[in-house]
Amino acid sequence: MGQKLARRVRDRGTRLYQQQRAEEAVDRWNRALTKLRDPRDRFLVSGDLCRALCELGKSREALEHAGQQCGLATELGDPGFMAEAYLNMAICNLYSCEFSKAVSYCRSALQAKPEGGDFTGYLHLCLGEAFMGLSEFQKAWNSYTRAQAQAHSTSDRVLEMRVQASMAAVYSALNDHDTAIACCTAAQQLADAVTRERPPPEIGGAVTRFRRRLATVIARPCRKLGRYNEAMDYCEDAMKLALLHGDRPVIAECLFQFADIHRKRSDFERAQPRYESSHGIMIETGDILGQSRVLGGVAKLSASLGQSAKAIDLFDRALALAQKIGNKMEMLRCHARLQLLYDAAHDASMTHRHGSVVRQLCDEMDLFCGVCDDILGSTPEKVEALTCGHFIHARCVMHLARSTLGRSGKPRPCPACRRHASLNPLHTSDVMALT
Ligand SMILES: [Zn+2]
Ligand SMILES: [Zn+2]
Repeated sequence: MGQKLARRVRDRGTRLYQQQRAEEAVDRWNRALTKLRDPRDRFLVSGDLCRALCELGKSREALEHAGQQCGLATELGDPGFMAEAYLNMAICNLYSCEFSKAVSYCRSALQAKPEGGDFTGYLHLCLGEAFMGLSEFQKAWNSYTRAQAQAHSTSDRVLEMRVQASMAAVYSALNDHDTAIACCTAAQQLADAVTRERPPPEIGGAVTRFRRRLATVIARPCRKLGRYNEAMDYCEDAMKLALLHGDRPVIAECLFQFADIHRKRSDFERAQPRYESSHGIMIETGDILGQSRVLGGVAKLSASLGQSAKAIDLFDRALALAQKIGNKMEMLRCHARLQLLYDAAHDASMTHRHGSVVRQLCDEMDLFCGVCDDILGSTPEKVEALTCGHFIHARCVMHLARSTLGRSGKPRPCPACRRHASLNPLHTSDVMALT
């Protein structure tokens, strides 16, 4: 194959990808890659492969291409290419739940190309998602607001819609379901605007892919608010499209949501096989966080059926996975449930052991409202982010206005920033809503 032909094969791959035929696109790009000689061409195709493979749930293969990009970028000696290669390494690590590595690669990318531009916004978004994977809410929020500022300054609506969806996931985790839904709605409107401005196929593929993911994000707060039919509708639509385009991460997430809804409706016979299918796909795609959440769902199902020993075993397994990837929120959920199960079994020592870890995790995640000291998310209610990235209850904002002004009239740091690592009284019932 000559270079001209190799480039034509590459372009054919790009068109297939725009038409959301990712598997076929990957096939063409792989063929082009074996023939292309110019390192710049090879770099670009490797980057395309990396993104498409992540979307297909093949993050391990994607990682190889990101690694090749790093090699090519070094060869080219171009900081822009180096930064892009690091960002792709970060994205691959994000997909395989290697959150700490993702953080490191984002930081390397920021160092490689510190001058800004559109690219930096996407880097901060990725960094925020990596921090979210570690349940570092404050750092995640700060990264998202940086990405958002970048999106505003460059009028990049695609970036903005993605940031809104990520912010929705933060509110969702803190049990502020109404704000989570509002962020998702904003993201949907941005997606609509982008589609109007730049119709398919140029942008269509990226936006429809985003919409599928967004549907699974919005389904969560809907489900938590008991709006099961609505949550089901969102996931059914996303599932149909995901099946059509081989979007395995979205398929797995939809199955998990279906299972949870059936469990909530006490339809355990329907829930069980959906948990199993979801779990199977997540093992293949390397989604360890998803696996932990699914095992937690099956454990809750077992607990509902009165099978406490099985539930404890499953929560222990879910906990081990959450610990492996360092997701503190998922760890907290498991410990809180285990505390409850051991308490019901009158095992005082295990109850105490899990209870003390719950307390420690709440502290580490700064889950206490800096004003009233209650746990954020212990009841579903509106929360607000402060400029430092800490969250407090919306109802506590008024009190904060008074308490943060010192005698000189200058603002003091937020209470959570001041009160780091102090011990707070905590009751099991306070964290159950978070589980
Ligand atoms: Zn409060
Ligand atoms: Zn603060």
